[in-house]
Amino acid sequence: MIYNKIESAGREEIEKVQLKRLKEVVSRVYYLSPFYKKKFDELNITPDDIKSLEDIQKLPFTKKQDLRDNYPFGLFTVPMSEVVRIHSSSGTTGKPTVVGYTAHDMDVWNEVMIRCYYMADVASKDIVHNAYGYGLFTGGLGFHEAAQKIGAAIVPASGGFTQRQLMLMRDFGATILCATPSFALHLAEEAKKEGPEFRKNYKLRAGFFGAEPTSKGLREEVAKAWRIDYYEVYGLSEIIGPGVSCSCNMGEGLHINEDHFYPEIIDPKTGEVLPEGEEGELVLTTLTKHALPIIRYRTGDITRLDRTPCACGRTFVRMESVRGRADDMLIVNGVNVFPSQVEHVIANTEGVSLNYQIVVDKKGYLDKLELMVEVDERIMFDDVAKLEKIKKELQQALLNNLYINAIVHLVEPKSIERSMGKAKRIVDKRK
Ligand SMILES: [Zn+2]
Repeated sequence: MIYNKIESAGREEIEKVQLKRLKEVVSRVYYLSPFYKKKFDELNITPDDIKSLEDIQKLPFTKKQDLRDNYPFGLFTVPMSEVVRIHSSSGTTGKPTVVGYTAHDMDVWNEVMIRCYYMADVASKDIVHNAYGYGLFTGGLGFHEAAQKIGAAIVPASGGFTQRQLMLMRDFGATILCATPSFALHLAEEAKKEGPEFRKNYKLRAGFFGAEPTSKGLREEVAKAWRIDYYEVYGLSEIIGPGVSCSCNMGEGLHINEDHFYPEIIDPKTGEVLPEGEEGELVLTTLTKHALPIIRYRTGDITRLDRTPCACGRTFVRMESVRGRADDMLIVNGVNVFPSQVEHVIANTEGVSLNYQIVVDKKGYLDKLELMVEVDERIMFDDVAKLEKIKKELQQALLNNLYINAIVHLVEPKSIERSMGKAKRIVDKRK
């Protein structure tokens, strides 16, 4: 099922809509956002300079740091009375990235998420088990409302509690699973303990997976483990949340909702737009958002675009599954973690030094983050009660600030290997 006519419209029609909306969003940010006004003035650009879609290349990029620098609401272009939802994600310096939505923006978000669900013909008869985390992250609620609008029964299970999740999926007869791919595999691994016929206990037919870069092998493993159709959803809170793009039943890339989000691929080093089909960093411009319109956002995600016709009938451009990040960000069970964020937490914890090492590994199908930290030399290493207190504080701070369940190991001063050059702070054993 295709939800909107525009999804299968001709290129000319799509581009007409895009250009009209691009002009609107450029005017919006120019007249309503002091941040963009300044940037445009520096480049000597006004909204009148946008006459074609190619003219987007004249516009400045927006980076994650710009959102942080304008914390919390500095980039909003509507009064707070029009904002109906606020989400946020953690940031490297302790200040999170904040995003806001008007009622109109929520309609846009729901529309693109409904389009995703329609890829798998999700309908009122379906029971959607949503194991994305609910809260400030856009994952949980992003999948929530659209399912409800379709008329499906949504089960807001949120993350964690593997056994309880499986029980609910069995007892409620979930037909659709929404989760990170690694969690879906972990669920399957646990479900296998019910016996070789475990799949008979479940009614799952399809799943919507995302929030982590995945290999083809992993996607196939998830589909095989549950014997379900695998749909990949891509998104980021700065643009809207999940729903920027979604794979169709042909399984050859993710259709970008390009009437709402205009994609470009650039060379991450030079910022130049790359020729069609080349791999590079995905840049997105929101064409229809009101509260937080974003011009040419550098996602940091590496992918390529494909405009060849898709057998599903949709004409929206497809992006490949994201290969990885342009920077050094770690993704641990779908949560973004910058090493500098961990360092920030350590720096704010009493009794430990900044000599540390992060070890990321797989435990079954889930990621496991271990943090080795040297205790401060002033702490007696045989003071077990004191050490236990520091460890707990650190684990709690990592959970509160970065939303990660880290395993903390306090080690003796000078026990972590020193390197002569750049400190080896991260050991990623998953690679
Ligand atoms: Zn398709």
